[in-house]
Amino acid sequence: MTETIANPATKPAPKDWILGISAYVPGKAAADDGRPLIKLSANENPLGTGAAARAALVAATADLATYPDPGATKLREAIGAVHGLDPERIIYGTGSDELLHIAASAYAGPGDEILYVRYGFAVYDIAARRVGATPVIAPDKDYATDVDALLAAVTDKTRVVFLANPNNPTGTMTSREEIARLHAGLRPDILFVLDQAYAEYLDADEDDGGLELARSASNIFVTRTFSKIHGLAAERIGWGYASADVIDILHRIRAPFNVTTAGQAAAVAAINDSEWVAFSRTHTARWREWLAGEVAALSNHGLRVVPSKTNFLLILFDGKLTAEAAMKGLWDEGYATRWLPGQGLPNGLRITIGTKAQTRAVAAKLRAMAEAA
Ligand SMILES: *Cc1c(COP(=O)(O)O)cnc(C)c1O
Repeated sequence: MTETIANPATKPAPKDWILGISAYVPGKAAADDGRPLIKLSANENPLGTGAAARAALVAATADLATYPDPGATKLREAIGAVHGLDPERIIYGTGSDELLHIAASAYAGPGDEILYVRYGFAVYDIAARRVGATPVIAPDKDYATDVDALLAAVTDKTRVVFLANPNNPTGTMTSREEIARLHAGLRPDILFVLDQAYAEYLDADEDDGGLELARSASNIFVTRTFSKIHGLAAERIGWGYASADVIDILHRIRAPFNVTTAGQAAAVAAINDSEWVAFSRTHTARWREWLAGEVAALSNHGLRVVPSKTNFLLILFDGKLTAEAAMKGLWDEGYATRWLPGQGLPNGLRITIGTKAQTRAVAAKLRAMAEAA
């Protein structure tokens, strides 16, 4: 028997603004022919997860029948203690992605504008369109954030500004002074979402002051993640800090039980494991600078690296070797990287800083390809 739809015109109609969304493209873990690859495509921690977080996660799987703590109390207390923040003003999400989405949902809708920079994080476009708001893109300044351009793009319809600092996929950093100037230039009714997914890779004196500003400002929401330096991407845990008013609003629309029991336990252990964080930070900085130097030495072949404060480098290919060819050549060495044509960077390849051996292998292959092109 064939199934028929009585009247195809009556099928459910998605919202116009949903039709405008291109689904998020995750970093590859395999080549086009299915060969599995080492992922240097999603900025995960190549050193893995700290032993304390792993042990806490395993121990927390003893009881799988009970819902997790809906208030993530121990997690909020641990974050508050490490960062000197009021736990009541900390919210948690299924990754910081959930927090970015609920921030857009709570403060913007059809007719409103959500502003971010060119080469901003890909989720901002989806978060804006998902709620029917209009995404507005401010021009960059040589791939970095241009605060004047952002301020110039604000209109009376602007409701939310998203800024990742350091930024992904460019790796660029906006200074503390510039963040303060941006905040001071935004109307108080605009929610400034400062996405600090890579903040743990910064030295203490490079902090952008976002958490400090959020202590007293009523319109800043700072987000962090356990997916990057903490090595817990598989568990999907993020957190955010804002005024009590903003946090109250956001709690209304986050998913109930949005962080698992094991995830909460692992995150508490991870945020207290300052040794693992420092070890990962030191490793990353060392091999990032080393790889940046290797790429700089290929400038006569048209390769250029954008200055990065993160655990990845954006490399621009403007010579005979293209970014696409470099990505495919690296597949042959067993590595997945992220080519970015969908984000307006067809000449850009984003490469996560891997282990020492991985980083050396990537550099050697890039050199061989550039010289042969
Ligand atoms: C990786 C990343 C996130 C984190 O996402 P999670 O949902 O917490 O895994 C957020 N913002 C930026 C800019 C990122 O690169």
